[in-house]
Amino acid sequence: MIDNLRLDCNACKTTSAMMATKLPKFSGVVRVIGVILLIPSFLGLGFAALVFLSTVLVSAEHASASSDTAQAGAAVASVIGFGFSLFVGAVSLISGLLGWLLLLNRRVYRCLRCGFVFDRA
Ligand SMILES: [Zn+2]
Repeated sequence: MIDNLRLDCNACKTTSAMMATKLPKFSGVVRVIGVILLIPSFLGLGFAALVFLSTVLVSAEHASASSDTAQAGAAVASVIGFGFSLFVGAVSLISGLLGWLLLLNRRVYRCLRCGFVFDRA
């Protein structure tokens, strides 16, 4: 297992002092922004799924409507519902991805002695 590999530190010249570990890729403020993006994106995805489902249910119910006006209204409502849920879903997905990117960790080796850090591939 490569994670158990210990490396010699180039900074303080200690042998086998560097251990594989993970560090946040970005600073605290950026990570807070990531969380702020991530939370509403989950809510937005849930909301979009709800709108989508209710649109499916409502349009199924109105498909058998007797009058042409009712059917036309149901069609317009379902187009708006699907469009809206798609839009909210897409925006949520993008902001969620962005937030997730901001919260990523980088894999590094860090010296237990002096704190010297370098990136792992
Ligand atoms: Zn060191």
